[in-house]
Amino acid sequence: MALLINQDCTECDACVPVCPNQAITSGTPYVIDALKCTECVGAEDEQQCKLVCPSNCIFENPDFPETQEELLEKYKQLHG
Ligand code: SF4
Ligand code: SF4
Repeated sequence: MALLINQDCTECDACVPVCPNQAITSGTPYVIDALKCTECVGAEDEQQCKLVCPSNCIFENPDFPETQEELLEKYKQLHG
């Protein structure tokens, strides 16, 4: 399940550098590329963007249901 950012985003930029997949780009609100977000599976134990976001505006994207195995495979594809 990729994550998404809602309208409560304050555009603080904190999440961009911590994403291991470079999945986040600036905008109003900031945007997570669902094809790149692995929920940090493959790189980190916790979702780094959620960890650093001061606005609590990052949630699961219901349009992208994925298993842990699929997320890991996605990570490998991105970093192959
Ligand atoms: S959960 Fe991880 S991979 Fe997904 S956007 Fe956040 S930091 Fe990037
Ligand atoms: S850390 Fe949160 S508030 Fe800051 S840009 Fe990212 S999603 Fe928006």
